Amino acid sequence: MGGNEANYVQNAFDTNWIAPLGPHVDGFEVQLQEYLKIGHAAALSSGTSALHLALILAGIGQGDLVLCSSFTFSASANPIVYQGAIPVFIDSEEKTWNMDPDLAEQAIQTLSSNGQMPKALILVHLYGMPSQMDRFEEIARKYNITIIEDAAEALGSHWNGKMMGTFGAMGVLSFNGNKIITTSGGGALVSKNGEWIAKARFLATQARDSAPHYQHSQIGYNYRLSNVLAGIGRGQMEVLPDRIVNRRANFSYYHKALSDLAGIEFHKEPENYFSNRWLTCLTVDPQKSGGITREDIRLALEKENIESRPLWKPMHLQPIFRDYPCWVNGVSEKLFDQGLCLPSGSNLSAADLQRVVFMIRSLWQQS
Ligand SMILES: *Cc1c(COP(=O)(O)O)cnc(C)c1O
Repeated sequence: MGGNEANYVQNAFDTNWIAPLGPHVDGFEVQLQEYLKIGHAAALSSGTSALHLALILAGIGQGDLVLCSSFTFSASANPIVYQGAIPVFIDSEEKTWNMDPDLAEQAIQTLSSNGQMPKALILVHLYGMPSQMDRFEEIARKYNITIIEDAAEALGSHWNGKMMGTFGAMGVLSFNGNKIITTSGGGALVSKNGEWIAKARFLATQARDSAPHYQHSQIGYNYRLSNVLAGIGRGQMEVLPDRIVNRRANFSYYHKALSDLAGIEFHKEPENYFSNRWLTCLTVDPQKSGGITREDIRLALEKENIESRPLWKPMHLQPIFRDYPCWVNGVSEKLFDQGLCLPSGSNLSAADLQRVVFMIRSLWQQS
């Protein structure tokens, strides 16, 4: 927490705004709009609920095809199945680790020539790294496909100076406890299209028609953010720029201290791409490292009570998604096999970072 969050929460208590609406919800939405430079934002109970509403607004229903990054967290794909639609998983490219635009185009062409044109595409900016937006904007235009950006990990990241989440028809943010800023649990849906965001608020509050009694003509959801939690969000928005500085400093430190080790490669930031560096990620190629694997690093750190984690396991390898269609090229499987997220919290001390580096370097010294 930055410091002001508790004041906003206290204010919610003092004014008795303990509900999934109120001045903090409104204020938090305005902060998000101003920060992202986008017209409209709806504060919701999670990133997952934001994705679900985005699919509903895009008209996704039973049997529709939705392209989705395979290299991601399962929450990117679950809402496709909530809608009875079919996820089509697309592998990554090596430059950004995000969805491969060539493979996405191949999938669209093959599927549409079989009369199964995908209706939407969920594009994830993983670990804060922007996707190849020039290519995806072209794909959206060329095939008239709705792009929903899953920017849950990429708040504050930008491509060519424009914020992630503001390129697609809709953008999704998460304020879950593990994200760069948090409301403990929360999310948002953002868009240039005010009608969609108004509709998202309507659906998120049980789709209540305007009548003095309770009347419903549609299925609704209970997906709004609490005013108490939005108070935390208002305080967190004040420190978001500092958080990005801290996360990027973690990356720079690790990069300087480790990139000379044989076989280690860091997640690169191409020119004009700005990542919030939510997590610092690297890969270890045992063919070049003298046999040292990412698992060797993970276990050596674990012995010192330092947690690190493998990169996301691709969706096309997950037991629950294994039988869905996918276009794969081996990139995400290799990243899963060789990749590691290092400790990346915004509050790591210099001593913490030094300890991690020391443990990793000592593996190379032994070999
Ligand atoms: C965290 C996350 C989500 C889901 O957000 P919640 O707020 O936890 O529901 C979706 N996609 C990605 C890539 C995430 O990392």
